[in-house]
Amino acid sequence: MRDTFSRPHPERRSLVELERHQLEAALADRGHDRFRARQIFAWIYRRGVTDAERMTDLPRALRASLTGDFSLATPAIGRRERSSDGTEKFLLTLADGRQVEAVFIPDTPAMTFCISTQVGCAMACAFCLTGKMGLVRNLSAGEIVGQVRVLAGALDLGEKPFNIVLMGMGEPLHNYDETMKALRILADEHGFALPPRRVTLSTVGLLPALERLAREPIMPNLAISLHAPTDATRGELVPLNRKYGVAEIVDACKRFPLKRRGRITFEYVLLAGVNDSPQDARQLAKLLAGVKSKVNLIPLNAAAGIPFERPSDAAIDRFAAILAERGLTVSVRKSRGRDIRAACGQLIVEGQKPSPAQRLATLAFTN
Ligand code: SAH
Repeated sequence: MRDTFSRPHPERRSLVELERHQLEAALADRGHDRFRARQIFAWIYRRGVTDAERMTDLPRALRASLTGDFSLATPAIGRRERSSDGTEKFLLTLADGRQVEAVFIPDTPAMTFCISTQVGCAMACAFCLTGKMGLVRNLSAGEIVGQVRVLAGALDLGEKPFNIVLMGMGEPLHNYDETMKALRILADEHGFALPPRRVTLSTVGLLPALERLAREPIMPNLAISLHAPTDATRGELVPLNRKYGVAEIVDACKRFPLKRRGRITFEYVLLAGVNDSPQDARQLAKLLAGVKSKVNLIPLNAAAGIPFERPSDAAIDRFAAILAERGLTVSVRKSRGRDIRAACGQLIVEGQKPSPAQRLATLAFTN
């Protein structure tokens, strides 16, 4: 795949940062037919063609204009690793050299792409490796969708449908506008035409953003990273809980507009001796009574530098059984790709120092 232009150019608008109606307007401004945007979307997102000269059904003048007036950057595959279970982890390099990870998980039973919304993450959850990086920067909508373009191209899935989980690096609701724009681009009928029900947004529970999400026309499935039934325990694991507590989050979930038979997933990373006791399970069941929910238990994926342990299988089973006895739908997440560190909370890119501007901002902030 050759890009028309590999680097963003200040005066050139990036094609992959435009929703279709924006591209239509940009084309009209330059005297081209608006409907050409549909063809361009089909080339970029359906056929994976990013070189304007290969967009053979476009008039020559338009191809020249795309090459001259627009830019288009595609993340480059820096490294690709395949796990013994078929999971593949892609290290992707962005136009400014920053890197993110995206993971392909086959047969869950569908094909799933786990993609990132930020370089690093500001949430600093105690058991998550990405949290150790801090936030380096937000991804743009084009970079979020770009991960999907790269994976779809590299894996050659053909027409096979795929799901997307926003469970890679970053907190999607902390990069709200670009994440929602990416979902609109992915949903475009002339591009990937990905139905929102195939997307799951996983969040630590940024309350104002969650309330904003409840009013969006494009509504992904929602997964809440809960991890504990009380503020005392959750506050230790998820620093943001000190701002938006368990009761407030569950309350917002109760008000969240769900489709018929729709449910909110509550993710719960099980940590030995911290949040895995029978009492925790009973409190969790009580907390979620009356919420249209399912609970996804995630036994900790241990890593060097993470000061917790995975509970025994017996403790995991006991925890799940208590929830099930109380009428909750429970699943235990099978860990995929652990041998290549592609599992939940194991995504980290080493050696990404904050940019000089960020360091300055931090200095200005702390002085
Ligand atoms: N920022 C979003 C997406 C993060 S990753 C969120 O917090 O929801 C998706 C899930 O992996 C989250 O529930 C996260 O808490 C979990 N996770 C993080 N570190 C983990 C680890 N070491 N083991 C297992 N799950 C982990």
